[in-house]
Amino acid sequence: MKEKGSISIHTENIFPIIKKFLYSDHEIFLRELVSNAVDATQKLKKLTALGQYNGEPGDLTVEVSFDKDKKTITVSDKGIGMTGEEIKKYINQIAFSGAAEFLEKFKDKADTNDIIGKFGLGFYSAFMVSEKVDVISKSYTTEGDEAAHWTCDGSTEFELTSTTKKTRGTDVVLHINKDSEEFLDEFRIKGILEKYCKFLPVEIKFGTKEESVEDGTDKDGKPKYKTVKSDRIINNPSPLWTKSPSDLKDEDYLNFYKELYPFSEPPLFWIHLNVDYPFNLTGVLYFPKVKNDFELNKNKIQLYSRQVFITDEVKNVVPDFLMLLHGVLDSPDIPLNVSRSYLQSDANVKKISQHITKKVADKLQDMFKKDREAFEKKWDDINIFVKYGMISEEKFHERAKDFVLLKNTESKYFTLEEYKEKVKSNQTDKDKNTIYLYTTDSQRQDSFIQAAKNRSYDVLLMEGVLDSHFIGNLEQKLEQTQIKRVDSETIDKLIPADTKMEQVLSEDEQKNVKSIFEKAINNTNMTVTVESLAPDDFPVTITMSEWMRRMKDMAKTGGGYGFYGSMPDQYGVAINGNHALIQKILKGDTEENQTKLAKQVYDLALLSQNMLSGADLTSFIRRSVELVG
Ligand code: ADP
Repeated sequence: MKEKGSISIHTENIFPIIKKFLYSDHEIFLRELVSNAVDATQKLKKLTALGQYNGEPGDLTVEVSFDKDKKTITVSDKGIGMTGEEIKKYINQIAFSGAAEFLEKFKDKADTNDIIGKFGLGFYSAFMVSEKVDVISKSYTTEGDEAAHWTCDGSTEFELTSTTKKTRGTDVVLHINKDSEEFLDEFRIKGILEKYCKFLPVEIKFGTKEESVEDGTDKDGKPKYKTVKSDRIINNPSPLWTKSPSDLKDEDYLNFYKELYPFSEPPLFWIHLNVDYPFNLTGVLYFPKVKNDFELNKNKIQLYSRQVFITDEVKNVVPDFLMLLHGVLDSPDIPLNVSRSYLQSDANVKKISQHITKKVADKLQDMFKKDREAFEKKWDDINIFVKYGMISEEKFHERAKDFVLLKNTESKYFTLEEYKEKVKSNQTDKDKNTIYLYTTDSQRQDSFIQAAKNRSYDVLLMEGVLDSHFIGNLEQKLEQTQIKRVDSETIDKLIPADTKMEQVLSEDEQKNVKSIFEKAINNTNMTVTVESLAPDDFPVTITMSEWMRRMKDMAKTGGGYGFYGSMPDQYGVAINGNHALIQKILKGDTEENQTKLAKQVYDLALLSQNMLSGADLTSFIRRSVELVG
């Protein structure tokens, strides 16, 4: 048999077009060809199981090999194979017209590269790297050694001849073109196989590996070693997520995590996803132990379609707040042949995303209910996920509000409900608003925390990167609750007490004190007020209003508040008229002494908040030495 023919497709010579569009993701040709080989092998397994193939399946390993001199890469399988007629039908028609149709559809789209990279062009992608492709195949239906040999250079002309082949299955031989010789390299091929084929369901062999094994003992009884060569199998054909959760132990999950991310700390816990209906989704999501920002984006969730690696860009498939998780998702129902914006509105993708959100909420709730203590131990590591989820997903918020924890400066944890109960009676102001106090830096704001504790108020720790957003979110959700940073006002203004502290200074004296301090401070960004605090509170307290602080925080994290970011910091300077030292300043003999003392107590207040530095700090120390001496 020898046949020459033309492949009838609408677009003449699509090869140059393909080349034009595909320049970044050439390496996926190997994924496509190996997946085809695996598919053909799986089909044979199925036919055998169904009793429709009575031959001996034998070893079904798919093999990838290359020849640097001949400039070829070969993918061989022992799958169902194809007869000449089938090659004409499947390769000429399906593969070529599929490619043509694909191009027609996407050639005007800006992100074609991206689409093709993920979707792949199937068999035709071989022509991205080859000047010629041979397919030598023997069908499982063919007796004897007759086989078909198809040759094509990527144009619409092909040649089909008969040949002989002993083993069942297909060899696809790529004659690598000049521009693609980089692929004729062991490490390059190994790298590509490990990236895309690591979990394909049929063993894939590439080259050999050498291992040193024990080989008896020498005359002194010491073990002897010899080197043995064996097939190098690239993949793990039955990865953990394809197994039933009931057959798996914690250790298996931890080992699989190591397999995915070899150099990472063990995860905290995980969720095994296993859905058949109304969409198909399997996978394992791990909650990592996040140590620093750098690690946040290092390990990504990997997306597979029937064990073929597709991408680790899972945006839009996984809700944003869960992008911080690690692990794998496998779903043939995620359409990869469409653009990103379409993906977002795809019904399956939406369902998958909602399902994942629900499963994560279930898991967290379950852990909270079953073992509160263990949950609290993990809280510092997982609070970022929960808070991010609550801020960004209404549905998750609904669920998480029952198990989200607030941590206070005594390292005790409370649910929202519990916390409200705890502080309600003592921290509710005359307008019936309950005031929650928080600190963003318990070290720096210690004097304010102490002041709050002196009045038996509780202070929450909100030191995380997301906490300023979380506070805003909580305030919206909680009724009649205000959340104030502990240093945003003097303590009695934060939670106005029913009975006001008496002010010992007369109005004139208050005016006088105010002007002494204004002169001493000499800074328009500092607004001086005289207040009546307890005599044992600090003589001077420096505050920044909650509102101002939030605007500044938002400016820092972006989001259109840039204007506030460029404004100078505005502080309040509260003078405690009831403090003995203030009365002493007022009675000072000379104006010079009054200013000096005022400056000294003001500097102490700055110092308590780490706001004194440079020349101001030096002059403070000089003055202190003088005053002590
Ligand atoms: P797809 O795999 O998406 O159907 P391809 O272009 O990759 O598209 O392949 C077209 C068809 O060619 C396949 O559906 C299959 O029938 C056939 N084919 C490709 N490679 C092989 C192979 N190694 N063994 C048997 N059949 C194959």
